[in-house]
Amino acid sequence: MPDTELLLPVQEDPIAAIATPIGVGALAVVRISGAGAHRIADRVFRKQGGGEAALSASPGYTAHFGRLYDGDALVDEVVALVFRAPHSFTAEDMVEFTCHGGPVVVQQVLKLLLDHGCRLAGPGEFTRRAFLNGRIDLLQAEAIGDMIHARSESAWRTAVSQMKGELSEKLAALRESLLHSCALLELELDFSDEDVEFQGREELAMQVEALQQEVGRLVDSYRHGRIASEGVATVIAGRPNAGKSTLLNTLLGEERAIVSHMPGTTRDYIEECFIHDRTMFRLTDTAGLREAGGEVEHEGIRRSRMKMSEADLMLYLVDIGTSDLAGEVAEIRAVREAHPEARFIAVASKTDAVASADELIGKVREGSGAEVVGISALEGKGIEELKRRMVDLVRDLDKLHDASVLVTSLRHYEALRNAADALQNARELIARQADTELIAFELRSALDYVGELTGKVVNDEILNTIFARFCIGK
Ligand code: GDP
Repeated sequence: MPDTELLLPVQEDPIAAIATPIGVGALAVVRISGAGAHRIADRVFRKQGGGEAALSASPGYTAHFGRLYDGDALVDEVVALVFRAPHSFTAEDMVEFTCHGGPVVVQQVLKLLLDHGCRLAGPGEFTRRAFLNGRIDLLQAEAIGDMIHARSESAWRTAVSQMKGELSEKLAALRESLLHSCALLELELDFSDEDVEFQGREELAMQVEALQQEVGRLVDSYRHGRIASEGVATVIAGRPNAGKSTLLNTLLGEERAIVSHMPGTTRDYIEECFIHDRTMFRLTDTAGLREAGGEVEHEGIRRSRMKMSEADLMLYLVDIGTSDLAGEVAEIRAVREAHPEARFIAVASKTDAVASADELIGKVREGSGAEVVGISALEGKGIEELKRRMVDLVRDLDKLHDASVLVTSLRHYEALRNAADALQNARELIARQADTELIAFELRSALDYVGELTGKVVNDEILNTIFARFCIGK
């Protein structure tokens, strides 16, 4: 946890937002935060039984039963929970009103608070304040967003680990040793006339190598982390009419996961997920591969190729009744060769339409050396087996339980890769006995990249992208 508990937070202008989903429910929460939040609450809240101390005079972590009034007009009966700076989520003065859970009631409560001096909060503004006040670091703020968006148990679990600060602790230790080396090198620069070395170059090289390994482990964890948080990237490939779309819909069928498009990510194609046996698969149909010519098609093909190269698992569909089985066998070999990283299943489709499916499947298996599963989407045959094989094949990729800290976001991955590159440059410079200044420069930039992750070094653009993913009220 950051150590700013003792510092008084900066209290910004009071904001208000509905913190619970819109809809009919037993209860809903409207929260306010910022300078003067307690005084605004006083203006609209009357304690049950009247009299007594106002909310602004109440200690933190106390709950008060009462009513909200707009002048003399009763708005709702609520429980007000008082938080005092810095002991609140935002580290500012806060009040959470638990009111009745009807959409109109909640809107009225919000309107009342806006009328009395609050401003409507932007997306993620509460969490942003928590970050700016040092209550949480950027990784933890992002983890809160990931947790809200988690669509599977493993995604939720990694987000919880990140929220607890496990990745932050690891990075803090990294930063610490980098800072130490940077400081010594910079001291040398200050004394450059005297030609002193505060840190032996051999020792420095060893330290940099150790750091590089540490960063490397985090970079490598991204594949597992991405799978844990976003699911196994699964590409369905094959010739036109092989039955790809039909399979996609069959797989998504009952187990279709709710997928929301997340603003701030660069996904501009549609992907859908399903969860089987606790493993989440993120499916992409390479429909774009079927067309050729024209700029739009080219773009589609380019993207499909890219998806294939990023696949963790590839399902290659072959219409088992095709007149060109030999051509398909050759294609399976070519695709496997081109994507050695991906796990692979050849799916023999439309087994209902041929008399001798088993024999033909045997031919494909022999000819291609690939695992082949026969299916008939029409009759619903082979689908369960296919799902079982999909899970078996990627089980080791979802190594969530042995890896303690995982990198799950592309932002973190890229920053860490940049840090690793800078460390590599530093090592090469040390080996070449280059100027201290050059080595210090590389170490300093590695330090900055690590700082970007936790938010020690941050710019508004990064913050805006991160918090745009949040809903209003978080
Ligand atoms: P895509 O071009 O690879 O996406 O193929 P589609 O999913 O659009 O399927 C092409 C055609 O094959 C359609 O007319 C489907 O109805 C048919 N089809 C798909 N799966 C099966 C199946 O299991 N059995 C039979 N008989 N036809 C199928």
